Amino acid sequence: MLREGFPALNEFIDIESALAQAVASLEPVSESPRLDAELLLARALDVSRSYLFAHPEDTLDPAASERFFSVVDRRAAGEPIAYITGEREFWSMNLMVSPATLVPRPETELLVERALMLIPRKANMRILDLGTGSGAIALAIARERPLCEIIATDASAEALAIARQNARQLDVANVVFHHGNWTDPVRGQQFNLVVSNPPYVRADDPQLKTLRHEPASALASGSDGLDAIRHIAATAADTLTDDGTLMLEHGSEQQQQVADILRRCGWTEIECVSDYAGLPRVTVARPAK
Ligand code: GLN
Repeated sequence: MLREGFPALNEFIDIESALAQAVASLEPVSESPRLDAELLLARALDVSRSYLFAHPEDTLDPAASERFFSVVDRRAAGEPIAYITGEREFWSMNLMVSPATLVPRPETELLVERALMLIPRKANMRILDLGTGSGAIALAIARERPLCEIIATDASAEALAIARQNARQLDVANVVFHHGNWTDPVRGQQFNLVVSNPPYVRADDPQLKTLRHEPASALASGSDGLDAIRHIAATAADTLTDDGTLMLEHGSEQQQQVADILRRCGWTEIECVSDYAGLPRVTVARPAK
């Protein structure tokens, strides 16, 4: 099959030209077309990115060319690069991802960073991660704090399969994954810290169209985007010790609404933390005594 603008399969094309053609077709959908093209070509050729820089005039054989341009097509159709490569880096871990999991975002590293500030290095605290997805937050904390016991829940069995595989791959033994909604699987248990990156996008947010390859259940949460946060605010206190802490990621324009929801549910010491771009992203609260 010939694609317009792409080389015929019996034509040999060199690395630099292949990259240039891919960049042209990725420019409309990607903020990093060159990086995307390099990552995809390195995989198609099974070489490192630095090999590409060192050998720009190497030619691609027709099979490699087909492999490369077919994934460029997928990316050009809006599929996240992480789903094509099957992995995404988060907190220096190479995490496996699939369309059943949200692609871990760099902004979620702020939540991990703030959580670690509350967990002394030698502490053996119990930590709960609600809606763990690929396991990004739970695994990052587990690796940084090996004496802690982390329980992570998710309503998606497919997502949990990925999270468990990530734990095996990273040799993390102090996380246990449970299938179920939010705190349901841990009813009656108590934790020192509850963390979550719940869905928080408004159901009618036009942004969801560009995120259509990712699971809607991990992104959208009712007409104002706050259904999941309301649910967690109403239920998470039962799973916390009296001196425990709740930590939630949310949209940068939801700071006030999140604080109001928490206050109405009886939470105290509500505090919002901003990311490096100065955007309020994580809210911390404590249960009423
Ligand atoms: N930060 C994500 C985005 O807006 C949303 C993640 C989420 O809903 N938890 O792309």
